[in-house]
Amino acid sequence: MSSTGFRKVAADSAADSSRVRTHNLCLVVDDVRRHRRTTRSEISERTGLARASLTTIIPELVSAGLLKEVGSTSGPRGGRPVAALEFDGSHVAVVALEITVGEVIVESVDLGGRTLRIDRAPHGRPIGDPAAVIDTVVDLLLQHLNELDNLSVAFGLCIVVMPAPLAGDPPVVVASSDLGWGRVDLLGQLVARVPRLEGACLLVNDANVAAVAEAAALEAEVGHPLTDLVYLKSLTGIGGGAIVAGNVVTGARGIGFEPGHVLVRSGGKPCACARHGCFNAEAGPEAVLEDAGLGDLAGRAGVTIAVAELVDRARSGDPRTLAALGRAGEVIESVVTDLSLAFDPQVVVLGGYWADVFNHLRVSTDLGLGEPSARTIAWTNSDESLPFVLPGRLGARAARAGAFRLAIDHLLSKPAALHNYNG
Ligand SMILES: [Zn+2]
Repeated sequence: MSSTGFRKVAADSAADSSRVRTHNLCLVVDDVRRHRRTTRSEISERTGLARASLTTIIPELVSAGLLKEVGSTSGPRGGRPVAALEFDGSHVAVVALEITVGEVIVESVDLGGRTLRIDRAPHGRPIGDPAAVIDTVVDLLLQHLNELDNLSVAFGLCIVVMPAPLAGDPPVVVASSDLGWGRVDLLGQLVARVPRLEGACLLVNDANVAAVAEAAALEAEVGHPLTDLVYLKSLTGIGGGAIVAGNVVTGARGIGFEPGHVLVRSGGKPCACARHGCFNAEAGPEAVLEDAGLGDLAGRAGVTIAVAELVDRARSGDPRTLAALGRAGEVIESVVTDLSLAFDPQVVVLGGYWADVFNHLRVSTDLGLGEPSARTIAWTNSDESLPFVLPGRLGARAARAGAFRLAIDHLLSKPAALHNYNG
């Protein structure tokens, strides 16, 4: 064997051993997170890692601030008490920065998912002026990061959540019809103005991360994996995400699955995308508010406030509101049917304010098992333990919940690096 060959093998084996070490650290972190309070023997039993390996892994995770010793728990068969471990992660913050059509929301949680703080500021929807929105974002983010410093929590990672198609690597905003944006390098502009974001900031599509969070919330409820799910949501427009075989559909350019602009009525109402009869133009919040007699309120106070009023009126049984929601529900059901034929999901989740008025939309919740008719197509529901169409569990926070999942998983995939955040 040549010396060059020998060095290569040595390098590979060092890389292998580092990979194994990271894998084992992740295994233990994951196990403790899932079981809240546990002991070394239980971890060893569940992960298959030898007690001897745990004697080096656990102190490393304790010193990285990820695990903490929490007194003791009774030993087996009443034996002497043994030290218990819990997941900690309270020293590192992950930040979700969400830009909606009307405001900027900055929320942070620690690695255990505990909320640290939330700040909001309206940006006034300056159509076609990304710089004005970015000014609001930067001011709010700097204020938020200062407050985290005051709490003595280290900044770990920021996920920027945008309700617009993204493309490229690193991704840029392709366009936002709601804000009148063309192509905008949002990440590049934020990093230039907030240098702490350099290497610690990701940009994601709101509905894609919301779909992942809703799938996880449902999985926890039903106790088995959901690998195929279609998520449709309406807050200030209509968006959605599709999970196929466990992966979020992004398409070849990153702009796959934009359900707000599928055609639902040929020659229908004009849409901001320049076509007519898109899903968003026919059953988006502005169309429903107009139909329900709340168009003026939306114009004066903004769509978010008008939608809150719409939900209140639906709950109190206002006939005009219920009729408008029923008409929107017919359009939603036709899109659900089409997308279900395209993706064959286990479930379809209706999120955003649609979850609050779910029953009033009167969407058939079991497209598979009822009698076939003009409105229901006969196919077999692949997951008979669930209704086929469900309201979302996470409401307007779904996208931020998904961003936190992504950020925490990202940081915990390199547990040893979290030493750097200590003192
Ligand atoms: Zn459109």
